[in-house]
Amino acid sequence: MKIAVIGTGYVGLVSGTCFAEWGNTVVCVDKNAEKIAQLKQGKLPIYEPGLEKLVLRNHATGRLVFTTSITEAMAGADVVFIAVGTPPRPGHGDADLSFVYGAAKEIAQAMENHAVVVVKSTVPVGTGDAVEKIIATIRPKGSFSVASNPEFLREGSAIDDFLFPDRVVIGIEDDVAREKMAVLYGPLADAKTPIVITQRRAAELIKYASNAFLATKITFINELADLCEQVGTDVGELALGIGLDHRIGRAFLKAGPGYGGSCFPKDTLALLRTAQDYGVALRVVEETVAANEARKRRMALKVLDAVGGDVDGLTIAVLGLTFKPDTDDMREAPSLALIETLQRFGANIQAHDPVGMENAARILENVAMFDDPYECVRNADAVVVVTEWESIRQLDLYRLKQAMRSAIMIDLRNAFGRGAAQAAGFHVTSIGQPVPQ
Ligand code: NAD
Repeated sequence: MKIAVIGTGYVGLVSGTCFAEWGNTVVCVDKNAEKIAQLKQGKLPIYEPGLEKLVLRNHATGRLVFTTSITEAMAGADVVFIAVGTPPRPGHGDADLSFVYGAAKEIAQAMENHAVVVVKSTVPVGTGDAVEKIIATIRPKGSFSVASNPEFLREGSAIDDFLFPDRVVIGIEDDVAREKMAVLYGPLADAKTPIVITQRRAAELIKYASNAFLATKITFINELADLCEQVGTDVGELALGIGLDHRIGRAFLKAGPGYGGSCFPKDTLALLRTAQDYGVALRVVEETVAANEARKRRMALKVLDAVGGDVDGLTIAVLGLTFKPDTDDMREAPSLALIETLQRFGANIQAHDPVGMENAARILENVAMFDDPYECVRNADAVVVVTEWESIRQLDLYRLKQAMRSAIMIDLRNAFGRGAAQAAGFHVTSIGQPVPQ
C-alpha cells in the first residue's frame, strides 16, 4: 500500500517507519523543514531507542521517504494518516485542533483519487465528523472516507509498542475504510493481535478513557505512597501485594513525583472538557488531575524538608529531567514544576540528563547543565533524583557523595534503594517508605 503520514513527530515518525517495515511505501510529511532536512540526511530529530536503525534501513530501501509537501505525499496514496499534535489550548484545557483541521484542509486540496483519511492524533469525540465536513466542503465531489485509529505507543518503547501492541483500535463508518485498514493491519491480525473495530466516536473516546484510567492508577498509588510514609510501611510491598491480583495488574503501580509527559496531563484535561460540554461529571478524573497537580508542587516541599526548611542560597543538583527514562521529551515533566518552585524559593539548580538537556534548556532558565553527573552534584547541598534513567541508577553512590557538600538525597523514584544510599552515607528521603523519625 502507499501511505502518507502528515506530522513526523514521535507518533508520525514511529508509525510511518513501522508501516514501511511491513513493506508499505510511506511518505512522511512535516511542515518543519529543518526536521525533514535532518531526516533526509539520516539524522533523527527525536530520541527513541531503536528508531534510528529502522528509519535508516527503510529509507535506504526507498520505502520510507520524507517531504514537506502534502501534495507530493498524497500522490497515489491509499491511506493518509493525520499524526499532528493536539496540544492543550492555553488557559482552556481542551485540545487545540487547529493542526488537525489545517492538515484536513491541505489533504482536501491535494486529494486525487479515493483516499482513506485516518486520524491517528488523539482527538475529542466528534473530531472525525468535523474532519469529514472540512474535506467535503472543499471537495464536494471528492471520494474519501474518514477513520479513527488512535495510537497507544509509549515513548521509550515506541517501536515494540507499535509492532507488538496489546490491541489496535479502528473506528470506521464505511466498508472501503474497513477493507483498507484490514489490509494495512494484516500483519498484526495474522499475529493474533486483537483488532477492535468500533464506531468512529467510540475509537476517539477509547483513547482518552485509556489514558485517564492509567493516570488515575498512577495517582492512586501515589496517594497510597503518602499514606505508607505516615504509617511506616513500604509502597513497593503494597504495590506488589495488590498488583498480583490479576484484576488489578502490576503495571502503573510505581509511586513517584506525579505523572507528566505529552499525553496524560493534556488528555485528562481534554476528556474533562468533553464531559463538561456534554453535562456529565467525571469526578474520578477531576480528582486525579487535581491530586497530580498538587503532588508535583509538593515534591519541592520534600526537598525543603530534607535540607532543614529553607533552600535559599543552596545548590540543589537534579538528576534526570525528562518525564520518564528513554525519551528526550520534556513536555509537562515533573522536573519542571520542581525546579521552578525551588528556584522561586531561592535555590541554585545544577542539572543532568543523559539526553533531555537540549530540550530542557529551551524551557528552563538559569539552570546549569552538566554532561557529567558527578560534576552536576559537585558542591551541591542536596541531590534530587527525578528520572530513573538506567545510567543514573548505575552511578557510584560513594563518588556522588564525595563530590557533594552535604550528603542529602531526595529520591523521587526510589531509583537507588534507600538501603544502598544510606550505606553510602546519604541521608535519604524516598517515596512511600517510612519517614525516619
Ligand atoms: P509532535 O509534536 O512530536 O509531532 C507533531 C508534528 O506534526 C510536528 O513535527 C509538527 O511540525 C507537525 N505538523 C503540524 N501540523 C502539520 C501540518 N499541517 N502538516 C505537516 N506537519 C504538521 O507530536 P506527537 O507527540 O507525535 O503527537 C501527535 C499526536 O499523537 C497527538 O495528538 C498526541 O496526543 C498523540 N499521541 C502521542 C503519543 C506520544 O507518546 N507522543 C502517544 C500516543 C498518541
